This record gives sequence, structure tokens and C-alpha cells, in this order.
Amino acid sequence: MIQGWIQYYGRFYKRQLKSYPGLLDRLPFKLSPKYSGVVIMMFLDPENPIATCESDSCDDCAINNDLHCHFSLKDWIYFLFIAFPPFLLGGAGIYYMNSWLLIPWIIFVVAFFGLIEIRVMCSHCPHYAESLTSLKCWANYGSLKLWKYRPGPMSIIEKTIFFAGFAIVWGYPLTFLILSKQIFLLLVYSITTVGFFMTLIYFMCSQCMNFACPLNQVDEKVRNQFFDKNHIIAEAWGKCGNSAPN
Ligand code: SF4
Ligand code: SF4
Repeated sequence: MIQGWIQYYGRFYKRQLKSYPGLLDRLPFKLSPKYSGVVIMMFLDPENPIATCESDSCDDCAINNDLHCHFSLKDWIYFLFIAFPPFLLGGAGIYYMNSWLLIPWIIFVVAFFGLIEIRVMCSHCPHYAESLTSLKCWANYGSLKLWKYRPGPMSIIEKTIFFAGFAIVWGYPLTFLILSKQIFLLLVYSITTVGFFMTLIYFMCSQCMNFACPLNQVDEKVRNQFFDKNHIIAEAWGKCGNSAPN
């Protein structure tokens, strides 16, 4: 049934692809023609600027390589690859103590990333301004856009909720691993969690277009260049874009 579903949508999206000549060649990997259309349409068209951007084209954009305005399957897989190990290891530690205690953690993780984090952090992201019903980015792919887009910085309350949620998501399993003295699992969990945040901050937050996020590492020069092309966002940040968009 799943195979049939993929083939049906593959044929549908391959027809749509005729509107995007050359797009397949830009993929960083080669796919079977049966699935390539599906994969491309899962993300924004990299040929076109994002909804908030006033440029006519991303070609020759000076910050195209410094900021991640578009996402791909490769970005998504990369994120899942670094994010999932702590969840699997932490879940195993909780399960070892009492499998029922997994339930509140799973409910909180789903509610936090599906509802709360989306409201306090993602609703400030330029990607949230796209006219899509769900997010098509690397970290929260598929989450429904239930809130309205709020360009501009996060408030102190939003940042507090953001960090408190992180503390619960990653701190809950840590507590069980310490209390049950699962030393090996505790060590691997700690290494993968620290590795996740270091990789996230150095390789992803350094290129993320959501300047409102407290983890964002994009420097001032690139931010100002982005503001020059995204005046709605510049105004929300109290900045004035001085140069004309390319
Ligand atoms: S700032 Fe605009 S033109 Fe530049 S890469 Fe992002 S969407 Fe494209
Ligand atoms: S902040 Fe990150 S996870 Fe949230 S919408 Fe923007 S790119 Fe996606």
C-alpha cells in the first residue's frame, strides 16, 4: 500500500517537476526517477526566494552560502542523525527502570516540539511565513503551523519557556540514568547529548535564518545583509535595510 502511495505521488510530482527545469541536477545526490519528484516537492523550491524575501532570485545572493534559506532531504537526515541517539538512549534508560514512566516523557516531547516550541521559537522564524500548512525545514519537519507568524525577537518569557522545555526533555532521562546508576548508558547519553548540541550550534545554528532563537550564531554582517532583503523582518527587529535587494 505504501509502495503504491509513493508511486502515485511520484507520478504526480514528476508532472509538477516540468515547471522546475534543472532542479533534479541541483540535488546533492542521485535518486531513482520514481522517488525524486516526491523528495523535491517535500521542501521549498531552492530556485525561488523565501516568502519574506524581496529579491527576484537567489542566484548571486551574497549570503546564499552563509544562510540556510532552503532545506533539503540531506539537511533533514543530517539533523535526525544527530538528534535521535540521545532520545533512543534516554528512552532505554527510563524503560529499564519503569516502562510506564516513558509515557509522560513521550507526551511532553511531542507536546513541546509540536505545540510549545513552535509557538515560542519557530513562529518567529522566516520559514514560518511560508504559505504552507506545515513546516518543511530541517528540525521540525511536518509540524503543523497552528500559530501566526511573529517576525522579530523572542520575549524573555518565550526564552524562559524554551530553555525550561529543553531542560525537561533532556533532563528527565538524565535523572533516571543517574538514579538507577546505569553508568555506561549515562556516559553514552551524555556524550551524544553534548555532541548533538555542539554539532547543532556550530554547523546549523551558525547558518539558521531564525535570528530570534537564543542558540542562533549568525554574525551581525550576515544578519544585516539578510535584513536588507527582508524588510518585514528588518522592521520587526527595528532595523532599516539600506541597500536595495539583489
Ligand atoms: S536571502 Fe533571499 S535571495 Fe538570499 S538566499 Fe535567502 S531567500 Fe534567496
Ligand atoms: S526555527 Fe528552525 S525548526 Fe523552527 S521553523 Fe525555523 S528552521 Fe524550522
